[in-house]
Amino acid sequence: MKRRRLIIAGATVALLLVAAWGLRAAMQARCWAFGAPVTCRVATQDKIVALSFDDGPTRAGLDAVLPVLAAHGARATFFVIGAEAEAYPEGLRRIAAAGHEIGNHSLHHRRMISPFSATYRDEIARTDRVVESAGAPRPKLFRPPYGVKFTGLAGALDGKTIAMWDFEEPVARPGGARAYADAVIAAARPGSIILIHPMYASRSVEREALPLVLAGLKARGFRIVGVSELVARDTLPARTEAR
Ligand SMILES: [Zn+2]
Repeated sequence: MKRRRLIIAGATVALLLVAAWGLRAAMQARCWAFGAPVTCRVATQDKIVALSFDDGPTRAGLDAVLPVLAAHGARATFFVIGAEAEAYPEGLRRIAAAGHEIGNHSLHHRRMISPFSATYRDEIARTDRVVESAGAPRPKLFRPPYGVKFTGLAGALDGKTIAMWDFEEPVARPGGARAYADAVIAAARPGSIILIHPMYASRSVEREALPLVLAGLKARGFRIVGVSELVARDTLPARTEAR
C-alpha cells in the first residue's frame, strides 16, 4: 500500500514537471502564441532580411544606431518600451524622421504571463498613444518582453501581429564585436528577422558590431528592411503582384 502511494506520488510529480516544461516551452515559442497571430520569419526567396532593435529608446542607443543605418541605406523596426518613450519622446521622433518603423514593446517590460487580457490592454494601448502623440503611426507590431506570451495577450493586441525573431546572437559570446557580427551575418537567410539590443550602455558589443553586421549582410547581397516591410512580402497580394 505504501509502495503504491509512493508510485502515484512520483507519477504525479513527473506529470506536473512535464506539464510545467510544456507550458514554459509554449510561452516562449518563437513562432506560436496562444490565440494570437505571430510572425518569426517570412517565407521568401528574395535576399531580404528584417532588422529589429528592442528596448529604449535611449539617446545614446539612437546616437549609435541611426547614423549607421543611414550610412547603409538600411531600415529597421524599433520595438520601444512605452515608459521609456514617455521619458524620451524625442527618441520616437528621431526614429520616425529617419524613416524607420516603431513597434510596441509594452509599457513596463514585464513578463506577460497573465491569462487575463485586462491586465495588458493599458500596457499596450498606452504605449500606442505615446508613439502616436510623437507623430508616428500607430504600431502594427507587438513584441512581448523576453518573448514570453500567454493567453492574456491575444485579447489586448488590438489588431497587432506579434513579431518574434528567428535569430538573436547572445551578447555573452566571446570574441567581441567581430565575432558577434560574423555570427549574425552567417545566420541570416532570406526572410530572417534579426534581433539586436543596442539601447543600453552595457550593450557596447552590439553597438560596435552593427556597422560590421550591415556591411556583411550587404556583402552577402541582402537588403535590410523593417519587420512590416518584410512581412508584406509574405502576404497573398504581395505574391500576386508582378515583380
Ligand atoms: Zn525587451
